[in-house]
Amino acid sequence: METIAERLKSVQTTIKQSTLEAHRAPNSVKLLAVSKTKPVSDIVQAYEVGQRLFGENYVQEGIEKIQELQKLDDIEWHFIGPLQSNKTRVVATHFDWVQSVDRLKIAQRLNDQCPADKELYICIQVNIDDDPNKAGIKSAELNDFVDAIAKMPNLLLRGLMTIPKGQQTPEQQQNSFRKMADLFNALKTTSPNIDTLSMGMSGDMEQAINNDSTMIRVGTAIFGKRNQTKESNAT
Ligand SMILES: *Cc1c(COP(=O)(O)O)cnc(C)c1O
Repeated sequence: METIAERLKSVQTTIKQSTLEAHRAPNSVKLLAVSKTKPVSDIVQAYEVGQRLFGENYVQEGIEKIQELQKLDDIEWHFIGPLQSNKTRVVATHFDWVQSVDRLKIAQRLNDQCPADKELYICIQVNIDDDPNKAGIKSAELNDFVDAIAKMPNLLLRGLMTIPKGQQTPEQQQNSFRKMADLFNALKTTSPNIDTLSMGMSGDMEQAINNDSTMIRVGTAIFGKRNQTKESNAT
């Protein structure tokens, strides 16, 4: 069986090769290690071989890990799951990024509850395929959403995040990724701080990198098959 360090290395090799093949600059794609349902000992193994960006989906589980790993203070924690309004305060307090913002009410609460000395980085989640089973705003709503967030002083919009529909043909998948790349590149021309297109997971990282993704979110390919948690069972 491969270790976490070995799997991490192989994902890094994939990133490097895909970046080269897409004629993109070296180091233009970041790796977010998605550690949901995995124990802190797994996070520490990845940390020890240099991984610093970690993503969590469930509020309670994520906060517990952040607190337990407080001494590893150069970890950047990304919240990437569904967020209810009664959890915004703890998320704004403990996480560095929230990638799953798709309601203005949630954005406003994150802004209002963000600690005074902190700027919270956010991505807007876009439901690029209008999939009824997926979170995210419609692409037609993006400009108004961006304008509203620009008025929230404690939030800094860094970019867009998406989870494309599963089980698409290669052509459909390419089409979804391309639509996201177009939205991202248009947004970059009007908003100076936009540098993040969070797109691609274990099954589709090469295609995402080929379509301008700047951050892939990888769970299974690093940590193996997911465990069940109380929170993931409940939702
Ligand atoms: C679980 C999850 C991932 C990682 O998925 P894998 O297929 O295991 O790589 C990425 N993004 C989000 C939003 C997730 O919930």
